[in-house]
Amino acid sequence: MSNKSTASVPSDRLAQIKAHIALDKPSMAGKVCIITGASSLYGIGRASALAMAKQSPTAIYVTDLSTDNLEELADTVQKQYPSVKCYARKIDASSDEDVRSIINEAMTTFGRLDVFFANAGIASGTHIKDETAESFMRMMKINALSVFLAIKHAGQAMQVTGKGGKEHSGGSIIGTASVAGIRSGAGSSEYSASKAAVINLAQTAAYQYGRTNVRVNAICPGLIETGMTKQTFDYARSRGNEHKIGQLNPLARYGIAGEIASVVAFLASDDASYVNGQSWAVDGGLSSSHPIVP
Ligand code: NAD
Repeated sequence: MSNKSTASVPSDRLAQIKAHIALDKPSMAGKVCIITGASSLYGIGRASALAMAKQSPTAIYVTDLSTDNLEELADTVQKQYPSVKCYARKIDASSDEDVRSIINEAMTTFGRLDVFFANAGIASGTHIKDETAESFMRMMKINALSVFLAIKHAGQAMQVTGKGGKEHSGGSIIGTASVAGIRSGAGSSEYSASKAAVINLAQTAAYQYGRTNVRVNAICPGLIETGMTKQTFDYARSRGNEHKIGQLNPLARYGIAGEIASVVAFLASDDASYVNGQSWAVDGGLSSSHPIVP
């Protein structure tokens, strides 16, 4: 039997629910966003910039260590979404100084930072016997330290928006992990360890920053065709084996960057205001079904 009475529900609660699901406002209106690792043409960072731009934020900083395609991406966003300001900046996502400087630029220009997508990363396909202390530290620096720095500095900048914010959002930080960080066997030891670190950083920071309304989550893509996996795809195609790449996946295919980007844009937006401390596998169901074969 349903109880249709609203007598015991505070009237402001009903208004809050209505406002939250209001469809008349783009879910990223007014937000200032930073994305690292955005230069790669088929990459997750670039696709995420376009997915966020569709939700009409105020500004997006697209950043990368490589400047290839970066200005072109900023131009594409501006042309497609004229109300969104898009800036291309060269930064090393694993440099404390660079991360602080891009956040300072956003705070000085707009007085706020709402979204940091810590996405830059590298991979390796080696066996542990071929990994070295140097290669391990490099992997941890680029894949895990970069996310630590983003969470540390962006989280503090977001306290401004979080405490003073009128809306139901203080900030959203998303780190790119991987299914390799959830289950063993999907990547090299050093890569898997660095991605497991991202998942744990997000969980810990979600608790520490939660009181100021800053959410921290990790996204865990499965196998996606990007610059990072180009060699694998090129090799398979050259042997006529492309169809075999995704055959273990429940969806019987690999993924494309846009399929990660739409989830990233959701996590970045107010629509995800109660999603915090999670590691979201976006992998066609791979990590929850078959054993992962490297
Ligand atoms: P990609 O190689 O196309 O993009 C990665 C980008 O990171 C590149 O543009 C690169 O220049 C940039 N980068 C590397 N080191 C940097 C640094 N120190 N500072 C700034 N930028 C730097 O690959 P992608 O697949 O789009 O990778 C994005 C993220 O997704 C990575 O963290 C990666 O580990 C993760 N990921 C990818 C897959 C996949 O199958 N492609 C799966 C799981 C996770």
